[in-house]
Amino acid sequence: MNPQAHFATLLKILSHEQRLGCEDKATTSGLTRFLAVWQADGGRLAQLPPLQQALAPLSDYSTMPQALRTELLAQALALLQTIDPSKFEAESSTALPAPTPKPKPAKAKPTAPKPPANLTLQTPLEEIPALAYSKTVLAAFKKRLNLHTVADILYHFPHRYDDYSAQNCIAQLEVGKIQTITVTVSEVRTFPIRSGSKGIEVQVRDQSGDMSVTFFGNYWLAQQFKPGRKIVLSGKVTLYQGIRQMTSPKWEPFAEDELLHTGRLVPAYPLTKGLHEKNARRIIKNIVDQAAPLVADYLPKPVLERNQFLPLAEALAQIHFPASSEQLAKAHKRLAFDEFLLIQLGVLQRRMLWQAEMAFKLDFSESAHQNLLENLSFSLTKAQERVLGEIFTDLKKPVPMARLLQGDVGSGKTVVAAAALVQAIANGFQGALMAPTQILAEQHYQVLRRVLRKVAVPRSQNGSKQDPWKAGIDQSRLKRLEEMKLLLNLAPEDDLDGQGIKVALLTGNLRKRERQQILEALAKGDIDLVVGTHALFAESVQFQNLGLVCIDEQHRFGVQQRELLKQKGFNPHMLVMTATPIPRSLTLTIYGELDASVLDEMPPGRQTIKTRMIARQERPKAYRHIRKEIEKGYQAFVICPLVEESEKLDLPSAEETAELLQNQIFPDLRVGLIHGQLLPRDKDQAMNAFREREFDILVATAVVEVGIDIPNATTIMIEGAERFGLAQLHQFRGRVGRGEAQSYCILVSDIANEQSVNRLKAMETSQDGFELAQLDLEMRGPGEFFGTRQSGTPDLKVANLADLKFLTFARQEAEQILAADPELAQPENRLLSAKVKAFWEKAQGSS
Ligand code: ADP
Ligand code: MG
Repeated sequence: MNPQAHFATLLKILSHEQRLGCEDKATTSGLTRFLAVWQADGGRLAQLPPLQQALAPLSDYSTMPQALRTELLAQALALLQTIDPSKFEAESSTALPAPTPKPKPAKAKPTAPKPPANLTLQTPLEEIPALAYSKTVLAAFKKRLNLHTVADILYHFPHRYDDYSAQNCIAQLEVGKIQTITVTVSEVRTFPIRSGSKGIEVQVRDQSGDMSVTFFGNYWLAQQFKPGRKIVLSGKVTLYQGIRQMTSPKWEPFAEDELLHTGRLVPAYPLTKGLHEKNARRIIKNIVDQAAPLVADYLPKPVLERNQFLPLAEALAQIHFPASSEQLAKAHKRLAFDEFLLIQLGVLQRRMLWQAEMAFKLDFSESAHQNLLENLSFSLTKAQERVLGEIFTDLKKPVPMARLLQGDVGSGKTVVAAAALVQAIANGFQGALMAPTQILAEQHYQVLRRVLRKVAVPRSQNGSKQDPWKAGIDQSRLKRLEEMKLLLNLAPEDDLDGQGIKVALLTGNLRKRERQQILEALAKGDIDLVVGTHALFAESVQFQNLGLVCIDEQHRFGVQQRELLKQKGFNPHMLVMTATPIPRSLTLTIYGELDASVLDEMPPGRQTIKTRMIARQERPKAYRHIRKEIEKGYQAFVICPLVEESEKLDLPSAEETAELLQNQIFPDLRVGLIHGQLLPRDKDQAMNAFREREFDILVATAVVEVGIDIPNATTIMIEGAERFGLAQLHQFRGRVGRGEAQSYCILVSDIANEQSVNRLKAMETSQDGFELAQLDLEMRGPGEFFGTRQSGTPDLKVANLADLKFLTFARQEAEQILAADPELAQPENRLLSAKVKAFWEKAQGSS
């Protein structure tokens, strides 16, 4: 008995059984019987431990339910495929060797070029013989698909699978269905077709009958179909003059071992110039067969076992060339889990890092809180009170708060931040509020200074907490405060004899001297709250005792920048605010390290902003509306997608529009202009001028998107509206309706494309940021949703971000792993730890 042939028979029968759908039809007397005979005939071969291990679970095959058969058979095949039968022959049949420890798959095609003996995951593609042959194919992989190594190919997944797995015989073919048959060529002829080319007609037969197969155009195929050759065809069966036939089916030579392009779930890969379907598949199959078994499984055993996940090597092999749709689903599940798990491990570790060190517990100061409330012109909404409750609870804990505050535009996040800051300051700490732009920082500064300087907080000599009122203020500090009054624009009656909260503004465009003074005051603890931009991250900025950091409109800040603060030696509480309403699954991913609070209620009396979509030629109507509003004493924004005129894009630019409005439409009114290319100083000036009503109309680019508060503006007209995401349009719309008066949003767009129209229509009917965000996510996908504004968004190949349940599950697994080994330092977690790092480096590098 030739052991290699005996082994091949086993593989052949098992694969055949799998192809037939595990109905125990591959052999006449059933698989259980077949295996018993095979083992009896196999001698020592059948005694090999890996063979026994593979076959033992199949011993009851014939009496098992089909679902179980499918699973166990696939497992057995996967195991068998790791055995290298060439080793059987090398030794005498009396001394069969154990399979090699790092087995190669059994089924490299005889014609396929042999890969280098020392193929590793890092092997560059040019060292793969099949690719070295063809510069075009190599270039297609490298330049167009951006794949450079064996590992890249392993993770270059099919984007689709065609199911050609239904095997049949000619007599049983059903018209109209895609089916697969194994047949023998009996006759070939070519015939002319109208285009001047030639087609071929191939007569084929099996035991059950004959049929004809036609290929158009590829007459050179004729030489492939030598009479007598056995081939496999997959394609749709049609009826032509009462005779069943196939037209241009997928085909490949019949191979004893395995089918690649037909008769199975056939993977379809993203193709590109120079890379054709069969070629791509053959090359990738070759590499996957060699390389998948080399991949070390980084999932800890307990996780694999309690979830019965496929081992990584098998999942990778199956996602490329699935043995069945069940196996494909399992591979999918495993790989999607990995993606979610790596994300969650990353964010949870980041959170642990943030909370690893102690924070100062803050005692709740009722008097300071009441003092703040008395100075507000409104009372807090229920949502604001609830969220503040959550924040105050965090602040009382000895670990740094890490909280996300989500709330639609205008829901009143600023006052929530202010109340939290007051608590930090009342406890003797300093606070910082970071905004993404100068304009916003300036605005926060104005608002907070006005309110907070009237809020008295306990003072002591050095910020310590023991009865500060009695401790009083030391003289040198009082003197410094005198100097600072000038700096902070404090009127003497405002600062409550040094008890009121001192707020300073620190941005990039301060004069050197001013900046120096503020930095000194901050370092000495004379400033309680600093409001600023990225300038707050500068190396020269030192605090005396930073207790709470609030970050507004977080999506403008990178995760790394947040970490910077920590590196400066502070371990403050942190509150991150965002008005970008995003679905929960995305929150868990992007802000996964933060606890979330939501302001889901608007302050009372908020009106709906009347929103209308118009075509460009209806602009005069919009202009008439704007004029009417201005005559009533209100102001208007006009938003443009571009700063300057562009030759390529037919879109209104801010500069053009400002000119047109000032010179032709509203010569009697005052039109201002603001865009991102202006110097910060000029931007501030324009914004302040608009706030002081020096302009009636402000033409702007997306710079006004976030946070700007000008209650007197009642109309916002958005040119080229289809250019913006719904979340962004919703942000723009939030620039108006901030006062008492009815406000309006006019969306100008000429795009007739149905999706664009539907998106803009949604703006007319919905005022709910979360609803609009969900819609945008569904219509344009997460990539579009975030655009380039999000940094550090990981690229998901398999996992579906909409699958909140599975994501939550992965998060729980991640929590469980980290609970036992927070730093992933245990030997069993080392691979996983390296993988998490690599995954996040890639995510951050690619954005
Ligand atoms: P956002 O959440 O967009 O940052 P803001 O904090 O700028 O919103 O608040 C928007 C406006 O609503 C501000 O003028 C603010 O003073 C006002 N506001 C906040 N909370 C309330 C409230 N509870 N009642 C009435 N007005 C409020
Ligand atoms: Mg805000």
